[in-house]
Amino acid sequence: MSRNTPGAADPFAPNDAALTSLDTLCPGLGRGHDPNAGSELRAASPAIDPLVAPLVLSTTFCRERPADEPQHAYSRVSNPTVSALEDALGRLEDAPPAVAFGSGLAAESALFLSLLRGGDHVVCSRAVYGGTTRLLQQLLSKLGVESDFVDTTDVDAIRAALRPATRLVFVETPANPTLELTDIRAVAEITHAAGALLAVDNTFLTAVLQRPLDLGADLTVTSTTKFVDGHSVALGGSVVSRDVTLLDRLRFVRKCTGGILSPFGAWLTLNGLRTLPLRIRAQSATAERVARWLTAQPAVERVYYPGLGQATTDTGRDAHGSGPPASATRTDDTRLADAHRADGRLAEFQHDGAHGAVVSFEVAGGGEAARKLLAELRLARFVEHVGSVETLITHPASMTHADVPPADREAVGIRDGLLRLSVGLEPAEAITADLRDGLDALSGTSETAEANVESQHDGTHVAVAGDIARGTETVS
Ligand code: PLP
Repeated sequence: MSRNTPGAADPFAPNDAALTSLDTLCPGLGRGHDPNAGSELRAASPAIDPLVAPLVLSTTFCRERPADEPQHAYSRVSNPTVSALEDALGRLEDAPPAVAFGSGLAAESALFLSLLRGGDHVVCSRAVYGGTTRLLQQLLSKLGVESDFVDTTDVDAIRAALRPATRLVFVETPANPTLELTDIRAVAEITHAAGALLAVDNTFLTAVLQRPLDLGADLTVTSTTKFVDGHSVALGGSVVSRDVTLLDRLRFVRKCTGGILSPFGAWLTLNGLRTLPLRIRAQSATAERVARWLTAQPAVERVYYPGLGQATTDTGRDAHGSGPPASATRTDDTRLADAHRADGRLAEFQHDGAHGAVVSFEVAGGGEAARKLLAELRLARFVEHVGSVETLITHPASMTHADVPPADREAVGIRDGLLRLSVGLEPAEAITADLRDGLDALSGTSETAEANVESQHDGTHVAVAGDIARGTETVS
């Protein structure tokens, strides 16, 4: 899945792949490629050709005659700035213009309303953003739509959940907040064989690091509020598809329900999009280093990060964190070890060279320990958010997943000691120093592993080299 990696031997050899990569495309998005961007201004004065897509705040657009069908008539239906963003988001996935919404959940709501009616059935990842669970369980259920939440990392579990009435399989990968992975290609195959559609929530990786449509998904949903905007200034959501009929249905729902993104939100998001590849790759490289560092901390019981070669790294400490670090690199349970290896292979195949900037970890001592740690942090901001340029931390059990019944939370590993870290653009050393202060408050013995991090290369990519040796230097 390496769409963006330029050739290795001669870095300056003619390279069409580099010319068409997202890293090249993104900085120029919003103008030139987009017939809408600037067209109004250019029509008024051919001398005006703004470099950046203009912000058109007008709610409505004038007509000369009643029979006129202007490109944009009323901004609840379409708007030039929103169209510029939609064109850009579609181009990222080699698809027609996306449909943009006022938030990720507005995008999901429109997706469900456009595809489902009473009596239909949805199979959804059980590890999924809490708002998605709430939407399906508490709202769509009232319209007669039934949902089953299954472990979508297990293709057989999906197969078993499919019914004749299943219209949609909705997966989130990596999943929020435990970052488990679903094999999009395999799920697309069984979903289509059952006559249903597959939608993938790609919020955590974005089209830069994962391209669900290329793997067989029918629709990609993204909360652009997160990494795409990247600066915590614009709520937004998008749906991308290569099926224009599906896109038309989504636009119709949006027109009926009024969930379109605002022009200003679209303009801010477009600006964020221009630096997305650079940000998400840099933040992912740092996240991988921080995840490795976390595996060496005595007060940390589990680390969840797909780039560790396995989605979950059990640090081998007992439930109270008092046990010694495990000397073995994996559990002795061969079946589990196989599953972990499979996860590592899936991450390499499904992600484009990096595994995202979100790392979750569980501290020994449960909710009380998590609260203690949070109180010590000075750099990581305690918020309900991921994907910004600054490092953020969330307590999923009481925040993003508070509406998920405790037993369901527990079943997917969202225990009270779990914390979700969204790694920003700060150096890894600063982030680990901050976390070390928090972890010291728990055990008083947390190892200072900045030395390990500092000893690593200064480059932007840290390769995974085989197994994780816990409690020691872990990065090649
Ligand atoms: N999908 C995922 C994976 C999320 O994390 C979120 C929000 O946190 C959403 C969807 C919903 O997005 P929004 O907050 O923009 O409505």
